[in-house]
Amino acid sequence: MVDYLSSTLWTDDEIRFREEVRAFGQKEIAPVADEIDKGPYPRDLIRKIGQAGYMGVHHEKEVGGSARGLSYEIIVAEELSSINGGLDMARMASATLYGMPVSKFGTDEQKKKYLTPIIKGEKIGCIGITEPDVGSDTAGMKTKAEKDGDEWVLNGEKKFITNGSVADYMCAFAITDPSVKAKNGMSAFIVDTKSDGFSVVQDHELLGMKSARVSWLKFEDVRILSDMLLGEPGQGFHILMDELDSERTAIAAEAIGYARTPYEIAVKYSNEREQFGRPIRAFEGVSFKISDMAMKLEAGRALTLMAARAYDRDENITKLASIAKLFTTESAIQITNDAIQILGGAGYTTDYPIERFFRDARLMTIGGGTAEILRFLIQREVFKEFDELNKL
Ligand SMILES: Cc1cc2nc3c(=O)[nH]c(=O)nc-3n(C[C@H](O)[C@H](O)[C@H](O)COP(=O)(O)OP(=O)(O)OC[C@H]3O[C@@H](n4cnc5c(N)ncnc54)[C@H](O)[C@@H]3O)c2cc1C
Repeated sequence: MVDYLSSTLWTDDEIRFREEVRAFGQKEIAPVADEIDKGPYPRDLIRKIGQAGYMGVHHEKEVGGSARGLSYEIIVAEELSSINGGLDMARMASATLYGMPVSKFGTDEQKKKYLTPIIKGEKIGCIGITEPDVGSDTAGMKTKAEKDGDEWVLNGEKKFITNGSVADYMCAFAITDPSVKAKNGMSAFIVDTKSDGFSVVQDHELLGMKSARVSWLKFEDVRILSDMLLGEPGQGFHILMDELDSERTAIAAEAIGYARTPYEIAVKYSNEREQFGRPIRAFEGVSFKISDMAMKLEAGRALTLMAARAYDRDENITKLASIAKLFTTESAIQITNDAIQILGGAGYTTDYPIERFFRDARLMTIGGGTAEILRFLIQREVFKEFDELNKL
């Protein structure tokens, strides 16, 4: 495979798999990559991605996945994001953000009913954490679920939910025991969005990620049967933290994807475009930007693979996932910005897709944990490690 980023750290099977996903993306998504940013939610493409097996590479075979692990999910995330960021955000919200909590904490019955159709691409999932008054401080969550006989009654609002208005199922987090801290008083539920009392307040108008839908949702006395609880009552915060580790690793891979295509266009353009009688790559002001882009892409891809490998070995990856997401998402903003600069006026037009990737990339130092929160987490994990090793 022609690849301008190093394959050294990847296995032969992973390299072959990347080739397969890239060919799928070029055939099925590239021809409509600009169009789907202006049209309706691309449900048919999600179905095709599911049929091709790319919703379930990290899910068990018993539920329809291929059990290859997060190191394969990051290949899917990078390859599809290198074509259209919003489409992969929609795919990943369903397959990973919704899928991983159900896969890891759901019963066999829950997985069969609420995960298998997601992996096939027939149904859409979303995850509901953020609320109008609660973003980074997830423990301050206000949505509540109260037990009433064999049911839970859910009340509250969720904001900025990817796939929200088009989802069939949501993995929703709510406080079930307000008498204790959220760490022990939060629970996770599977919510069928056709339930009475579930409504869409609005879809948010976004800077980028136009092919996805991101919504504000409301629960008014939504009744959930007890068998829709994920894990145990009070286990929600643990489920949430576990989900964020896989989400952050997959977002890091997406960020490599958003940056890779603008980088490729900028390298070619700087070789072809002539000013002052020379290709502009002859000027260090241009070519050193290319050096920085290459360095950030190689380092970012290696960091992301390291986090995924550690996750697949059941190691704690809070620090590695945070480092990978922070580095790649900040790099993606810089790389897409520099690519626009290298193309000059042409980079600012829609003649090239760089402006789309620039707008898409801007989200990812916010969604799934802001850059500030990730810096907080990294230093917290560093001090914890030093403390455990008696190095403080
Ligand atoms: C397009 C999009 C899609 C999204 N998809 C989903 C989804 O599918 N599901 C979901 O649940 N959520 C989703 N989100 C929400 C996203 O995860 C939150 O926006 C994010 O966690 C930040 O929360 P906030 O926007 O409320 O910002 P706030 O938490 O209000 O933060 C505002 C600013 O203050 C800073 N800040 C806050 N606390 C601290 C601190 N302790 N130290 C330093 N700085 C701090 C933040 O870093 C940020 O810069 C999505 C958001 C967007 C925009």
